[in-house]
Amino acid sequence: MGLLERYEDLFPLTSATPRISLGEGNTPFLPLRNVGKSLGVKLYGKVEGANPTGSFKDRGMVLAVAKALEGRARAVVCASTGNTSASAAAYSAAAGLPCYVILPAGKVARGKLAQALIYGAKVLAVRGNFDKALELAMAASDEWRLAIVNSVNPYRLWGQRSGAWEICDELGRAPDWCVLPVGNAGNITAYWAGFVQYRRMGKCQGVPRMVGVQAQGASPLVSGVECDKPETVATAIRIGRPVNAQKARAAVKMSGGFFMAVSDEEILEAQSLLASREGVFAEPASCAPLAGLMRLKRDGKLPQATTIAMILTGNGLKDPDTAMSKAGEPVEVDGTMEALRKVMAP
Ligand SMILES: *Cc1c(COP(=O)(O)O)cnc(C)c1O
Repeated sequence: MGLLERYEDLFPLTSATPRISLGEGNTPFLPLRNVGKSLGVKLYGKVEGANPTGSFKDRGMVLAVAKALEGRARAVVCASTGNTSASAAAYSAAAGLPCYVILPAGKVARGKLAQALIYGAKVLAVRGNFDKALELAMAASDEWRLAIVNSVNPYRLWGQRSGAWEICDELGRAPDWCVLPVGNAGNITAYWAGFVQYRRMGKCQGVPRMVGVQAQGASPLVSGVECDKPETVATAIRIGRPVNAQKARAAVKMSGGFFMAVSDEEILEAQSLLASREGVFAEPASCAPLAGLMRLKRDGKLPQATTIAMILTGNGLKDPDTAMSKAGEPVEVDGTMEALRKVMAP
């Protein structure tokens, strides 16, 4: 069952909203025992890479595209650091809607680019960063009255609340902390709204502290100033002017949480640890939260025995180049046992 059917009563649906689905949501909520133990916390990972296009964007996209269909939109448009375009292109394809994608040229992981193209979107790579691409997508949406499916679209954020609901359903309560990577700051806003809505409905106890982790080279919510030239290996959060900055600030403040920034090196270290200690391969942006927790632990600022939900936003397979820059290449040998004996000793 797709998200729209599963959470029918919690979404703003009408009888005219088509209940489309590619099988999104209901992703694994894994106890990460090895890493959790070394951090001294009860750590869980919400594996959003298990969604149909490999990221959490599908949760919001299913509702945004359903609403575009209901409103008889001519086409869908988005700006993207990669995952939004993959998701928009897939759901548009299934819905029979044309999809236009505007990307920062040369700054999108190859797997994501391949997705947008193979799903049949018209992909435009603009010379400029994501913030420029979003400006253009919004202008194009106005000029041709296209449905814009970035996180300026309220249905996107509403759909993404479902991640918070699933966590509460699984834990039987809200976690103590919910830690997310922050780019355009939509997802952290959506999760907070999801927890608050669930508590109000009596479906969970309490709400978590929201912790937003940015990459040091793109950390306007930590520094307090917009960033003209965002730069980080975590391309999904390479954003200098988050459109949801105000809402995200309010959410984090209300929750008693905070924002922090981590270096690219820390992100890659966390990615490698998560894969090699837990068997979970998440893309670089998704590993910023773990990098943040590792930093807090080192600084003695991680409260022990806390129950922490980490949102592993996207699948590592989308960006093999970055992973291999850290993991290296296979060892090449002759095809003989003699050669194997020299390098392999279990
Ligand atoms: C989009 C995305 C983010 C950032 O989410 P925002 O809502 O823009 O803050 C983080 N990680 C991945 C993998 C993403 O695709």
